This record gives sequence, C-alpha cells and structure tokens, in this order.
Amino acid sequence: MLALGIDLGGTKTLAAVVSDRSEIMAQASEPTLAEEGGETVLKQIEKAGRSALLRAGLTPDQLSGVGLGTPGIVDPIQGLMLSEAVNIPEWKGRNLKADLERIFQCPAFVENDANAAALGEWRFGSATGAQSLLYITVGTGIGGGLIIEGRLVRGTSFAAGEIGHIPVEPEGPVCGCGRRGCLEALASGPAIAERAQEYLARGVPSLLSEWGTSVSARAIADAAEKGDLLSRHLLATAGKYLGIACAMVVNLLNPDRIAIGGGVAKAGRWLLEPAEWEMRRRALDEAGRAVHFGPSSLGDKAGVLGAAALVFTRPD
Ligand SMILES: [Zn+2]
Repeated sequence: MLALGIDLGGTKTLAAVVSDRSEIMAQASEPTLAEEGGETVLKQIEKAGRSALLRAGLTPDQLSGVGLGTPGIVDPIQGLMLSEAVNIPEWKGRNLKADLERIFQCPAFVENDANAAALGEWRFGSATGAQSLLYITVGTGIGGGLIIEGRLVRGTSFAAGEIGHIPVEPEGPVCGCGRRGCLEALASGPAIAERAQEYLARGVPSLLSEWGTSVSARAIADAAEKGDLLSRHLLATAGKYLGIACAMVVNLLNPDRIAIGGGVAKAGRWLLEPAEWEMRRRALDEAGRAVHFGPSSLGDKAGVLGAAALVFTRPD
C-alpha cells in the first residue's frame, strides 16, 4: 500500500510518498505562502503532492489515499477545520478533505498535525507495539497527541492532547493563547529564546551574546553542547516544565510511552534528561517507573509519516 503524506507547516509544506512499511519513496516541498491566502496554500499543497508523486513515478490512482496533517483543530470524521490554520482565518469551517479528494481524486484524511505525528510514532517509530503513547512536539509551539489502548484520543470537540496549554506556572508568562503559564509559554523554542534575551540583557556572560536579539533555540542547543552554562540552564529549565506536564499526564493516564519530537527536541540530552528526571520525580512510583521516556525516532519525517499513517490506520 502507498500513501501520499502531506505535512502542512507555517512556512513549508512537505509531501512524501510513503509505503505501509514506512519507506519514503520520494518527497517534495514547497513554501506554504500562507500570507497569500487559502487558495494559494491549496495550490502549494497540490504542487508539493504532485511533485512527490512524479518523483516516485506514480499517479494518484495508485495511492490508497492522501493524508494531511495540519495545525489547528480538525474534525477528522468530516475532514473539517474547526479553527483557523497557518494564520488563514477563512479556513475555519473549510472542508479540506473534500478539497484534497477533488485535487487528488482519491480518499483523503485530515488530522491535527500533532495527532498525526503521534499516530506516525505509534505505527512506524519508537512506539510501535505500545499500548498507549503520549507524543509531544516541541518547536515553535508545543503540541501533543495521545493514543490510549491503540486509539487516538480526540476528545468531545476534537481538542484533546493540547499539552502545550497545560498551565505549569500559574503566574508565568502570557501564552499565545492569551492565558498565563502554559507549557508553551515556558518551553517552546521562542519561549526559550526570550528567556535567553532576558539573561543577556542583564549581562550574564554566555556564548549566546554574539547572537544578540536574534538568538534562537537552535543556537542555544549548539551552545549547550559547547559547554555554555547559560544555555544548559535555559534548556534544563524548559525541560523541568516539560517534565511537570508529563508527570500530570502520567499520573492521570498511566501511559507506557512518552516520545518527544519537534525541532527543539534536537537539543537532546540538555532538554530531555531534565524533563525525564522531573517527570519521574513528580509522578507516582507505579506510573512513573512504568513509562518509557525518550526522543521520537522519526525526527523531521514525523509529520509526513504521520500524515501517511492516517491513510493506513484509517482512524475512525
Ligand atoms: Zn496557552
């Protein structure tokens, strides 16, 4: 079986032809061009998808289906956007499943990107064979997907898994959602970079000072690896908050796996070791000991593999 997996991102849209054994046969990417509006974004999705198919030497009728992972809240049964996505307000209420079926003339499946990535990790990655999984993506934002007893948990209004908006510091910084102290406001890439700037403005010595106001989570991860104490402190603090949020989920649901993906997770041990330590310290013994905690094994491919997994798994 072959599927076209499409990962719609804020700046880049990645498409890949994927086999049901998780082999990527071909891939292509296009800029999302969200600033040009919804119709342009659909054209970019089509362009990326058709390029990937062309490179694989396939036509859409040879596919089992097309899967799309998108930011925002999605009703995957109807394929309907329930919120805006990639800053396109008019997409709220849009039936992307119908759009994709019209474009590619094959069955289409649409899902929130973090939910799709969770499904990808469970089907193709480090959580294969797990009974339950908490997948967290730490990047520009923090998203999550939850699989319990082999089923994706979507919630009563398809908004389950939003671990980025769990409050972990009641009077903490204001989050993009408007609330205070969300995990995303403390441990996402931009949040870590903002903390770095605060320290640099106070004159704390660091390898980061050469970056000034353009310091990024990636620069912080590199500096941590080179021995920079401020960078290690920033990542350990973000990791601590990540661990607190994980402990909440562990005590509530007793999952057997936690997998962390996303760009910021590339900081590796400087983020993940403090997160794991904090999670195990705060979770109840029975649940904390039972959970396997580690990085996603799918890396940058989690998005497209997850989108393709929507086709193979056909979640209801
Ligand atoms: Zn929030």
